[in-house]
Amino acid sequence: MPGVNAIVAVASGKGGVGKSTVAVNLALGLAAGGHAVGVLDADIYGPSMPRMLGISGKPVSTDGRRLEPMENFGVKCMSMGFLVDEETPTIWRGPMVTSALQQMMRDVNWGALDVMIVDMPPGTGDAQLTMAQQVPLAGAVIVSTPQDIALLDARKGLNMFRQVDVPVFGFIENMSYFACPHCGERSEIFSHGGARREADRLGIDFLGEIPLDIAIRETSDSGRPIVVSQPDSAQAKTYRAIADKVWEKVSQILAARETSMPKIVIQ
Ligand code: ADP
Repeated sequence: MPGVNAIVAVASGKGGVGKSTVAVNLALGLAAGGHAVGVLDADIYGPSMPRMLGISGKPVSTDGRRLEPMENFGVKCMSMGFLVDEETPTIWRGPMVTSALQQMMRDVNWGALDVMIVDMPPGTGDAQLTMAQQVPLAGAVIVSTPQDIALLDARKGLNMFRQVDVPVFGFIENMSYFACPHCGERSEIFSHGGARREADRLGIDFLGEIPLDIAIRETSDSGRPIVVSQPDSAQAKTYRAIADKVWEKVSQILAARETSMPKIVIQ
């Protein structure tokens, strides 16, 4: 994709672990760091980016060939959610999903982006494989909750990327613990530390842990993610720290790409 410097997938082994919430806050964290960011919502069957980024309406085309991406908080976005009604299910078979994803990448005027964040569909099916194989991903991050049952699926996600030679930047533990806003006591509702231990065991990086937190849910579900609506909060700082680590990984990949390019010398 000309103009798009690096594409990073945010994936999870199963649904409901907070992948989209991480994707949106990660994108906004990167934008807060001064980078030009786009979000491709590849979750064809359950697009949540329009709602999480607080964008409504339909994308338009100015040249009759390519769609203009939608935009909010300085981040560009394309999602199936802009093209179909929120309550209409996408009843599609694999090839249609593949072609929709390709169009959302190629037939959208993304412009110049430092990084594109792809909110992947959960699991390891057709759409995931299309993205992993046909899109030049710089890398992927895998979101999991801490308990064994979720980690089992996260491991499958990791292996899928490994099989198609996409570097996995690391694991993120979401819903890592709950700090009661009333008494301050900490409860480990889904256990704690599983993703870090798993990352250590598998020899990949651990990028950070995010608590189970009412403000995170309220802000992302109402279209004002915490990184932009409460930028000084501890939660926003956690997301920005994760974004910094992801950017570091992206920079390493870009630098390696640069050195492996053949040098053309004009004499
Ligand atoms: P997925 O993309 O994995 O299906 P979502 O990001 O859509 O998951 O999150 C599912 C629900 O959980 C949403 O209502 C979201 O706001 C909420 N959620 C995600 N992460 C957190 C968190 N750290 N604390 C509280 N709620 C969260």
